[in-house]
Amino acid sequence: METTRQYTCKNLLQELSDYLEGAMESPARSEIEAHLAKCPNCWVVCDTTKKTIQVFKGMEPYPLPEGVKGRLVKALEKKCSRAGQA
Ligand SMILES: [Zn+2]
Repeated sequence: METTRQYTCKNLLQELSDYLEGAMESPARSEIEAHLAKCPNCWVVCDTTKKTIQVFKGMEPYPLPEGVKGRLVKALEKKCSRAGQA
């Protein structure tokens, strides 16, 4: 039984950097994890972003740059529109 709000791919991507940086509170975290478990597109983006953040963090204490997030959102929207409604 799902009583939590459903993340759309777009919402999830907008909040992904908070999630990956551990800045997100636990109810939202588990909602994101539930979406990732069902959505291979978001899972791939999440995994890629996580690795990107790790690379950035290995070099300098940066947050995820805005441009990177925007490009990921655009790429995901393209994928989702090609695959129909995800
Ligand atoms: Zn998704």
